[in-house]
Amino acid sequence: MISQECYELGSKSSVIREIFSYGLKRKAEIGEDKVYDFSLGNPSIPAPESVKKAILELMELPPEKVHAYSPAPGDPKVRTAIADSLNRRFGESFRMENIFMTCGAAASLNICLKALLNAGEEVITFAPFFPEYRVWVEGVGATLNVIPAKLPDFQIDAAAFGQAITPKTKVVIVNTPNNPSGVVYSEETIKNLCTILKKKSEEYGAPIYLITDEPYREIVYDDIKVPYLTKYYDNTLVCYSYSKSLSLPGERIGYIVIPDRIADHEHVAPAIAGAARVLGFVCAPSLFQQVVAKCVDDTGDISAYKKNRDILVDGLNRIGYTCVKPQGAFYLFMKALEEDAYAFCERAKKFDLLLVPSDDFGCPGYVRISYCVSEKTIVDSMPAFEKLMEEYRTNAV
Ligand code: PLP
Repeated sequence: MISQECYELGSKSSVIREIFSYGLKRKAEIGEDKVYDFSLGNPSIPAPESVKKAILELMELPPEKVHAYSPAPGDPKVRTAIADSLNRRFGESFRMENIFMTCGAAASLNICLKALLNAGEEVITFAPFFPEYRVWVEGVGATLNVIPAKLPDFQIDAAAFGQAITPKTKVVIVNTPNNPSGVVYSEETIKNLCTILKKKSEEYGAPIYLITDEPYREIVYDDIKVPYLTKYYDNTLVCYSYSKSLSLPGERIGYIVIPDRIADHEHVAPAIAGAARVLGFVCAPSLFQQVVAKCVDDTGDISAYKKNRDILVDGLNRIGYTCVKPQGAFYLFMKALEEDAYAFCERAKKFDLLLVPSDDFGCPGYVRISYCVSEKTIVDSMPAFEKLMEEYRTNAV
């Protein structure tokens, strides 16, 4: 008998993937430019020129210097370059030993969860949240508890969080800038969160680890600052990815930061190495380890995302939709025009608007709009959004 759990996970695709596949079929039928596909979070800006330059330089080296296995936690020079960059940017004092190279944020989170959790323990996250967290947490036999969204600003409901922590709570996951809301948690939110974490860890006499999922750290607008969480809470593990900051999602490259001051460091650090081993995430892609080391302080030109955000927010507000203005990432969270977001998305399809219902993000009644698309798609989609609104005005649901 095979694993029923894996069978079920593998035999149905995510809602996002289903909508994306529908979009491909629809584009083949009526033409690419007539379908407004806002389903996927695939970066639409190119990787910075420094990435191409780094790849070309590396191609001049003997193959064994570029394509060989690195040590399991990553190339020491790469890890040192990353630690130095974090120290420069966030006033930290990391060394290469604090950096574990991985295949992106998905791998980083899976490694951390596997390393920290035993079956029956609990993880808390905050709605709206990235739906794969449920798969990953349940995959290690733990339970995911979701704190409902705090409206209207989508920050964190500190009181609800404090009440939800139990003696079994081992891990808390935060994602800022957030997928799907685009919200950046303010310093005040982070301070409140960390005060509660410290208080509850003391009360229960056991550390609660904070995992911060940061693929969008570099994608922020209007000089918004994203607090660096190790500065606020000692028991923080940072899961970083270059998928979005360097537009390299297919190359599967990122890292985990394991600070020296984390509780039980002498066990946590080897457990991270062990989890990476069990999951087969050792020796992250060699070429791209070296590429990111050469581009360690770079980011793609995000001005196109900002322009898209502004056109979209202004256009939707003008039509009469309610949405949270994103401060980062490339997602916009918009209130559906009826309670059932699935039904709303089905109606939107009539106008070839492909939106993602918010139920799997733990916050029903909204849709996610991924605006990592061309500016033309956003501009051309506005009449379709107008028609959708008109449909609700004339045929009240
Ligand atoms: N976490 C969040 C919030 C994401 O949005 C994504 C990807 O979209 C991931 C993790 C996984 O990213 P990666 O490509 O680095 O595995």
